[in-house]
Amino acid sequence: MAGALAEFRKYILPKDYPEYPSSIMNIYLIEAIDELLSTMSDKASSKTLEYLKDLEVKVLLNESVSNYDGSQVVTNCDKIILTKNLTRTAGVKGQFPKGIDKKHVVKGNRLKTDSFLMVEGYKNIFAIGDIAAVITEETPKGHPQVAQTAIQQGKYLGNVLLKIIKDEGVNPFEYKDKGSLATVGKRKAVADLGKFKFAGYFAWLLWSVVHLLSISGFRNRLMVGFNWAVSYFTYEKSNRLIIRNFKPKPSVNNTKK
Ligand SMILES: Cc1cc2nc3c(=O)[nH]c(=O)nc-3n(C[C@H](O)[C@H](O)[C@H](O)COP(=O)(O)OP(=O)(O)OC[C@H]3O[C@@H](n4cnc5c(N)ncnc54)[C@H](O)[C@@H]3O)c2cc1C
Repeated sequence: MAGALAEFRKYILPKDYPEYPSSIMNIYLIEAIDELLSTMSDKASSKTLEYLKDLEVKVLLNESVSNYDGSQVVTNCDKIILTKNLTRTAGVKGQFPKGIDKKHVVKGNRLKTDSFLMVEGYKNIFAIGDIAAVITEETPKGHPQVAQTAIQQGKYLGNVLLKIIKDEGVNPFEYKDKGSLATVGKRKAVADLGKFKFAGYFAWLLWSVVHLLSISGFRNRLMVGFNWAVSYFTYEKSNRLIIRNFKPKPSVNNTKK
């Protein structure tokens, strides 16, 4: 998101608002720990930092937001940043119906399950996706809260329920890590695919293809692919509101002398 905003500042702002120098827009990324994209490899983290610095994003590492009053952000290092725009991206929090014993709720409001996705302490409640924390010896923090986990667990649980009905035995859930991709900007992305860790144009191309293929329906894929291609070459965004400074029109005096 910081990368997208930086590209907006670099390419769109000067076109839409030529009267404003783009230097008036500052983008800060405040990260509480010492690296970006900590769930990815060290290479992906350092490359992301490099890309964002190239795009002139001010990255503050080991710093967290301690207060925001609508006009100034205060960090735990007492840094003050004046801004009316703050986007919080500090993680997702699970939502589930009341009634579940709090002792089965772990960090991030996730439900602790066994390796068959059954919520601890219950025999008839399963949890999948972001809400599930499958805590085992191999996965002490649960699986990553990403789409792949949710898809694989959904498929697995569908089969498990059928097997339970048929009174057949079930195997525990096994997560297949298909790798991680993250995009920072145009031609700037990072990829961790097992042993292969790479960054740059090819990672960005791969990210685009994977996301295009994930869109449902051929027509939608075609339309999105076409729109991306147009944006790639023109840096144009189709819908946007451009507001200029109000300049009153000079009054026309029709009175004849
Ligand atoms: C900004 C953002 C970017 C992300 N980017 C990526 C990415 O690039 N790649 C990736 O793999 N993952 C990404 N994720 C994570 C991914 O979206 C989730 O891991 C995935 O959607 C989890 O699927 P889920 O079915 O568990 O939950 P969800 O997709 O959140 O589905 C839960 C559904 O339950 C509904 N719901 C909630 N409460 C109730 C209720 N009481 N009754 C009925 N329905 C209810 C919600 O409305 C929602 O539709 C991103 C997440 C966010 C927030």
